[in-house]
Amino acid sequence: MALVSGPGRGGVPAGRDPAQEPYLVTEKHVNYIKSLDTRKDELEYWLTEHLRLNGVYWGLIALHLLGHPDALPREDIIKYVMSCQSENGGFGAAPRHDAHMLSTVSAVQILATVDALDELDELESEGHGGRIKIGKYIAGLQNRETGTFAGDEWGETDTRFLYGAFNALSLLNLMYLIDVHKAVAHVQACRNFDGGYGVDPEAESHAGQAFTCVGALAIAGHLDLVDRDRLGAWLSERQLENGGLNGRPEKLEDVCYSWWVLSSLAMIDRLHWIDGKKLSAFILRCQDYEGGGISDRPGDMVDVFHTVFGLAGLSLLGFPGLVAVDPVYCMPKHVIQRCIQKSR
Ligand SMILES: [Zn+2]
Repeated sequence: MALVSGPGRGGVPAGRDPAQEPYLVTEKHVNYIKSLDTRKDELEYWLTEHLRLNGVYWGLIALHLLGHPDALPREDIIKYVMSCQSENGGFGAAPRHDAHMLSTVSAVQILATVDALDELDELESEGHGGRIKIGKYIAGLQNRETGTFAGDEWGETDTRFLYGAFNALSLLNLMYLIDVHKAVAHVQACRNFDGGYGVDPEAESHAGQAFTCVGALAIAGHLDLVDRDRLGAWLSERQLENGGLNGRPEKLEDVCYSWWVLSSLAMIDRLHWIDGKKLSAFILRCQDYEGGGISDRPGDMVDVFHTVFGLAGLSLLGFPGLVAVDPVYCMPKHVIQRCIQKSR
């Protein structure tokens, strides 16, 4: 199963007035995502193998947000995800790939979205699954001295992995397997004087890191540690004249930053600090109005990564016709509510 990149280009068709194209081409996006799995004879399919499980997560979430949760067959999804699991409990990007934190997080998010987490322990008898086994793989990537997390057994640490661990372990209801206190202290150390967060202590602020750090603090119940006004001001400065958002000063706008910036603003109750109307219009201009899919900015190739984050951004902005997204997990809100209820 592969749902990564596609052939079309985002942008309002030539000769049409962008101001007159503020609508969402829902059906075209659904067909676009479904079509991605049928392009196995193309070179690109094989070049994107390292992203396969992430791609399924992106495509599945996009379909859920579009209100078409059953567009991909549930049993096929579960079978594919389980075929990516390694002996050590973690998941690789594709079958027979080494396990990695990011694909393991995607696997857990996918299984939670299709309501299959309860089946994990049943699958263990067949040599797969095992909720605790997966949790232990993730917990094993924490450095118990520093609180940080690595992506795999050899990799460097990054707050992306720390956030991923919090995301997956909280969905599995296994946060007790890690040292949350030390991890939170590390996130605190990555905070800068401008209220933003860097990839390491003393690294410059970046919107992607704001999302991972604030998201981790939200899961840990420690949003009190965020300087909301300062961070909110830094995030709202990410909006450019054309309505799009960038990831740090002097950089180009990009649809995926709609998500990192907006979700961070939502978590600290400052969503209204940017111009949502202008941002919605920018995201809509990045759609391929004929073939479906969303690109990073008008005129570029569409792909499933920018499609899901564009849709998630629109959902947070309350765009009509989309299912509500959870800003912390980038999954449908009702899925998160279901997981939290079950863990009580
Ligand atoms: Zn991007």
